[in-house]
Amino acid sequence: MNGRRRKHWGWGWADEQPSPDEVRAAAAGLREHLGFGSVEVEAPAPVGTLRAPRLEVPGTLAAICSVDAHTRATHSYGASYRDVVRGFRGAFDAPTDVVARPGNEEELEAVLEWAVAEGAAVIPFGGGTSVVGGVEPSVPDSYPGVLTVDVSALDRVLEVDSVSLAARIQAGATLPAIEEQLRPHGLTLRFYPQSFEFVTLGGAIATRGGGHFATGPTHIDDFVESVRALTPAGWWESLRLPSSGAGPSPDRLMLGSEGALGVITEAWVRVLHRPAFRAAAAVHFPTFWEGAAAARAVVQSGLRPANCRLIDPDEARLTFAGDGSVAILLLAFESGVDVAGTLMGHAVKLCREGGGTPVEPRGEGGGASEVWRESFFRAPYLRDTFVAMGVMSETFETAITWERFETFVSSVLGATREAVGHPGHVSCRLTHVYADGCAPYFTVVAPVARGFELERWSEVKRVASEAILAGGGTITHHHAVGRDHLPWYRSQRPQAFNRAMTEAKRAVDPGSAMNPGVLFD
Ligand SMILES: Cc1cc2nc3c(=O)[nH]c(=O)nc-3n(C[C@H](O)[C@H](O)[C@H](O)COP(=O)(O)OP(=O)(O)OC[C@H]3O[C@@H](n4cnc5c(N)ncnc54)[C@H](O)[C@@H]3O)c2cc1C
Repeated sequence: MNGRRRKHWGWGWADEQPSPDEVRAAAAGLREHLGFGSVEVEAPAPVGTLRAPRLEVPGTLAAICSVDAHTRATHSYGASYRDVVRGFRGAFDAPTDVVARPGNEEELEAVLEWAVAEGAAVIPFGGGTSVVGGVEPSVPDSYPGVLTVDVSALDRVLEVDSVSLAARIQAGATLPAIEEQLRPHGLTLRFYPQSFEFVTLGGAIATRGGGHFATGPTHIDDFVESVRALTPAGWWESLRLPSSGAGPSPDRLMLGSEGALGVITEAWVRVLHRPAFRAAAAVHFPTFWEGAAAARAVVQSGLRPANCRLIDPDEARLTFAGDGSVAILLLAFESGVDVAGTLMGHAVKLCREGGGTPVEPRGEGGGASEVWRESFFRAPYLRDTFVAMGVMSETFETAITWERFETFVSSVLGATREAVGHPGHVSCRLTHVYADGCAPYFTVVAPVARGFELERWSEVKRVASEAILAGGGTITHHHAVGRDHLPWYRSQRPQAFNRAMTEAKRAVDPGSAMNPGVLFD
């Protein structure tokens, strides 16, 4: 981590935190744009004194274990709105007890062996960007303590296979570090979640993360050739293959395992040559529904745009990508040979037939696409200012097949808007489009009384989640289950599948050490 410290709350590095004057100035601008929020910004509370660690680290592991307050605090929450608020207020009531940072697999084995022998809960920790309580040490009192295993020292690209176009990468490597190490080979992983800056490969695999490309390889599932992980019962390593029909896939069990089966240490993943050609365009539609129909027509025609992101009028206005009168479809094509422009021509034609008006010359990017992209990556920083100015901001996401899409989105928006109330905003965009459906993503921005943020958010989250389930959508398309989504995940999974998964967990984690409280009851 180059000796830099992450903030103990919110997004980014401690040395990047804007000054109080800068936060005040940003709050004034945001208040003008939103029409709510206070310019009297609140300052973050320090970490303070934490509860004494309940585990005693043996001398042999002391060099790789930390019990200092900052390290424990920065490993006790993820990065959801709830987490940011609690960190901001210095509320670390049930922190993790010890943070281990093994430098190699032998050290990981030693630390896991110790924790399991102690009966402690073990929480794997990648970049800590979970938005579903995945890294929170909230475990039953029957555990004598919690050990967080931070894999960030396992941060290297170990091998590049430029014949098969794949790389063996350690689980703690962040996505920017992976790109940096692949660049000299002319290769890219091309996996860009919004939280790109801090996400690790292991975290992405454990949560079945989704990148921001709308189609094509964009889910981490699409990239994984094989996974290596340490479970309390021993090593789990799958065969490296381009594909296999040999029974249920061992990779599949680790994909989305959320730290509940073991610690992923490395994976072989597919990589790509950097695309040489790119074409981008923005198309305006009178309504979100017409834009969605056009996006569907594009993917159902067999075109696979890299970007096919539909933003509703409200979100376009909030992100400065538009004036709020139209929905905007952002389209992009990438290719290794010079066909991106031709593919864009076909897509734009379909959009025109669906009532759309292209507003940016093909191939130029710029305009709405760039404004929106900028706001997309700035969003996690912006959220910290929102917390300081008494504004609730959070997102939730799902997926649904096209034939239910319009009714579904209308009912989720309606229920959530009612729960949020005036003058809050609930907007929607499509993050991923498939031939048979799409992933609607909702953003909530609303004023909230200081001190009532957690209650307010829990209520909105409950209403939104119930509306999603009532409409037949998944409780999560790419944010994972964690602790926060467990009640709704529980009601969606088949009972026989749950029994099978529970037995699988028992086989690799007989003492239930691994991340108790996520995925499993
Ligand atoms: C602003 C913001 C934007 C986001 N945008 C996206 C997005 O576009 N797409 C998306 O998919 N997600 C997104 N997320 C959610 C989050 O970034 C992802 O879930 C991400 O994949 C988590 O990776 P991480 O390395 O931070 O893992 P962590 O947060 O550290 O951990 C997440 C879960 O994985 C487990 N885990 C971590 N590392 C390992 C390992 N090596 N072995 C076993 N288990 C492990 C943890 O125990 C935990 O359950 C966003 C989050 C934020 C805050």
